[in-house]
Amino acid sequence: SAAVEAARRVVSGLREACATPATRLADVAAALAGEMEAGLAVEGGSRVKMIVSYVDSLPDGGEEGSFYALDLGGTNFRVLRVRLAGKEARVAERVAREVPIPPRLMSGGDATSERLFGFVASALAEFVADEGHDADGERQRELGFTFSFPVRQTSIASGTLIRWTKAFSVDDAVGEDVVAALQTAMSKHNLHMRMSALINDTVGTLAAGSYYDDDVVAAVILGTGTNAAYVESADAIAKLEPSQLPKSSNIMVINTEWGGFDSPCLPTTEYDRALDKESLNPGEQTYEKLISGLYLGEIVRRVLLKISSRCSLLGDVGGGTELRTRFVLTTPDVSSMHHDETPDLTVVAKTLADRLNIRGTSLETRRMVVEICDIVATRSARLAAAGIVGILRKIGRGGPGDERRSVVAVDGGLFEHYAKFRRRMESTLEEMLGEEAAARVVVKLASDGSGLGAALVAAAHSQS
Ligand code: ADP
Ligand code: MG
Repeated sequence: SAAVEAARRVVSGLREACATPATRLADVAAALAGEMEAGLAVEGGSRVKMIVSYVDSLPDGGEEGSFYALDLGGTNFRVLRVRLAGKEARVAERVAREVPIPPRLMSGGDATSERLFGFVASALAEFVADEGHDADGERQRELGFTFSFPVRQTSIASGTLIRWTKAFSVDDAVGEDVVAALQTAMSKHNLHMRMSALINDTVGTLAAGSYYDDDVVAAVILGTGTNAAYVESADAIAKLEPSQLPKSSNIMVINTEWGGFDSPCLPTTEYDRALDKESLNPGEQTYEKLISGLYLGEIVRRVLLKISSRCSLLGDVGGGTELRTRFVLTTPDVSSMHHDETPDLTVVAKTLADRLNIRGTSLETRRMVVEICDIVATRSARLAAAGIVGILRKIGRGGPGDERRSVVAVDGGLFEHYAKFRRRMESTLEEMLGEEAAARVVVKLASDGSGLGAALVAAAHSQS
């Protein structure tokens, strides 16, 4: 029918604009490696910020003692305490609590730095109170803070916020010293802890990965947002002043902030451009907006909306569908529709009904919805793989003849829970590296590595 034809045209236009053939992916990897180089050369040299983390040693398993950690930066905020018991026993105890952040504290008129950090401090205070006295008795508690936004660091335990990303936008915090802001809030709760480390979730994931595996060279976050960190040799960081060079090692962990990567070789569509324009951070985080969990559902919604403006297959927007409501369709929704194995695609039918109030679709229309999920998720997974290849190229790993094992630790709900995404990402790595080299590149899930990593970095930089 004419309606099906019109819808088909939208889908084939999408497919074409999202295409990621091998040559394009190779360009993406090379462009990213080039931007990384530019970001290391001078401060502000690239949209890929290449932030120096001041983490110049990674945990080796020998760490001991109890450490607290905060993990702020995604949908859920986590508080945890771990007891590290050395090489044999490793993490002897781990207590964690997840606390949802009220959306009014994340953006909008009520969202101030004082309120946000006040909320974080009160959750920490409650956690510590519920825990009672730990075995360490009088020893001062030490805290690692994972704060997953671009921060300009001047030492391992201080830094100022460059800008917000993802769903956060708290204006008065930009430019502020994040550690000082949290410490002020903590003292209002009579919480006396030593803040030993301020890190990013990528750096935390890298630390947690290294704690269990000596061959970890990089870490990638594929969750609400996306980012990567890797181990760089200190003398390759031209923008580092001699006084900033590490004293006892020649390595430095770099938080790439690759979400900010932008290049003409990235395949973008009209939907991406509209999403970007209406986002909290227009013109920024281009790569992230093509890949991460905050956005995939929203991209799919925009494609469905376009179809419904062309034909009646998805019901009537004026007649009560939710297709105009931003972010009603989530990435977990996309994932469950994409994995729908029922012959009638009942999961798709239910998602369309529950989320978008679209009912009575034909099986053919539902198949088309799955196809759209597939196109959007595949582009994301392939671009993420190209990013990993870019990092490997930058550090001279994973090439033909490189006999070393290179491990990439990955954390984040998109990678952990979206099986087809994960498989596509892994097969793309093999496609790009070649079967032989790919066999020595290991992508390893480091679930909740970011929180544990903050505790580990705090332990590694502990002064007691
Ligand atoms: P964060 O990135 O917020 O720290 P997570 O690593 O837990 O937290 O990732 C959460 C994100 O992962 C969600 O925003 C969502 O986009 C994505 N996600 C969670 N579950 C799924 C799923 N089943 N399928 C696809 N994506 C998922
Ligand atoms: Mg996270």
